[in-house]
Amino acid sequence: MRRPLMAGNWKMHLTLDAAQALARGVVEGLERALPGDDGVEVALCPPFTALERVGRVLEGTPVALGAQDLFWEDQGAYTGEVSGLQLVDLGCRYVIVGHSERRHVFGESNQAVQRKLGAALRHGLAPILCVGERIEERRAGRADSWVQDQLRTAVAELKPGEARRLTIAYEPVWAIGTGEHASGEEANRMAGVIRSLLEELFDAQVAAAVRILYGGSVKPANVGEFLAQPQVDGALVGGASLEAEGFVAMAVEA
Ligand code: PGA
Repeated sequence: MRRPLMAGNWKMHLTLDAAQALARGVVEGLERALPGDDGVEVALCPPFTALERVGRVLEGTPVALGAQDLFWEDQGAYTGEVSGLQLVDLGCRYVIVGHSERRHVFGESNQAVQRKLGAALRHGLAPILCVGERIEERRAGRADSWVQDQLRTAVAELKPGEARRLTIAYEPVWAIGTGEHASGEEANRMAGVIRSLLEELFDAQVAAAVRILYGGSVKPANVGEFLAQPQVDGALVGGASLEAEGFVAMAVEA
């Protein structure tokens, strides 16, 4: 019912030729491994600088193009920002919203995430909304309420028809880029917490339709543990998405 998604977040890595080569590697690897298969959806999220070049590689293939962030205004005097309008123009289908590095390195608030989510939906982009607790909240036994607060604020202005279009990535901050990851059971439990809140805020249809990914040190050796969980519908992969063969292998497992 929910189609699994394997999304690669390339973060601030790769210059143009390297990004193009990686995208080609992923497309060709998928063609070899899953010819004509539409079971799993695959998305690549290169840095803004490489969107156009990677987009050309992905054109006419089943692999979707995604961006890592957007600003909520469409245009104007916002130096350094990129709008949803511009992302759609580049051929993006997905956009990551509220990644923990945006929240914790750049101070993005839950309110800012809410506005960005609204802008993404307004432009017809498919947002991948990231939520996740830091080690402080986990140690204090406040991981669930922290994630619930992030989600509640992010979706506060959405109608059920908009909420259905979300993908949510549960990414515990302590697991991102650290080599440490949540257990499959814990990822599944947290995805269940998120799904229950969606049902409370919207309805059972929304809760059943929204894809929930796990992210945080996912790699070929551990992806199966997450994909085996009934509440987990795929993964958002950082470091391990920078290597075509491993990333394709993870998509094949999904
Ligand atoms: P990681 O990053 O896979 O390198 O831990 C995941 C993410 O930040 O989305």
